[in-house]
Amino acid sequence: MDYSLNSRKVAEATEQWMRQRGVDKREIGELVMFLQRQYYPNLTMEECMESVERVLSKREVQNAVLTGIQLDVLAEEGKLFPPLQDIVFNDEGLYGCDEVLSLSIVNVYGSIGYTNFGYIDKQKPGVLKRLNEKNGKDVHTFLDDIVGAIAAAASSRIAHRKQAEKETEEYIDEA
Ligand SMILES: [Mg+2]
Repeated sequence: MDYSLNSRKVAEATEQWMRQRGVDKREIGELVMFLQRQYYPNLTMEECMESVERVLSKREVQNAVLTGIQLDVLAEEGKLFPPLQDIVFNDEGLYGCDEVLSLSIVNVYGSIGYTNFGYIDKQKPGVLKRLNEKNGKDVHTFLDDIVGAIAAAASSRIAHRKQAEKETEEYIDEA
């Protein structure tokens, strides 16, 4: 049989897995608000959520989410090969593939996402703090970076759009 992949199925699986792993999209919207409210005091939660949805609608983002979650789950179940099993299970400090995978998400709205990604990773507000709590059972080695990256990309999208809006207004003022 020919290989074919239904885009809707990939999008649905991404949503389901995030929910199954305890991440509510609204919490990602809250991270976007955390990152952007200092620059845009009138920013609404609706705008943040719309941006999160747009980021999640991209296939390269869905691919990264599915890949990262899969590795977290396999590590939780003890099913990775050694030494990767211990590395991912313990979120080993020198292991950076979780961040590298997340860069494919950060990149979707250009390089300003990097700053947001680094900042939110240091601050670990809201859902990121919860995902980083180690209880010796749940593994979120990949998911914490993925969630931060989605918020960073959604923030970049807002920054680009706000700039475009401003330029349109200036153009109208000049005309
Ligand atoms: Mg990580």
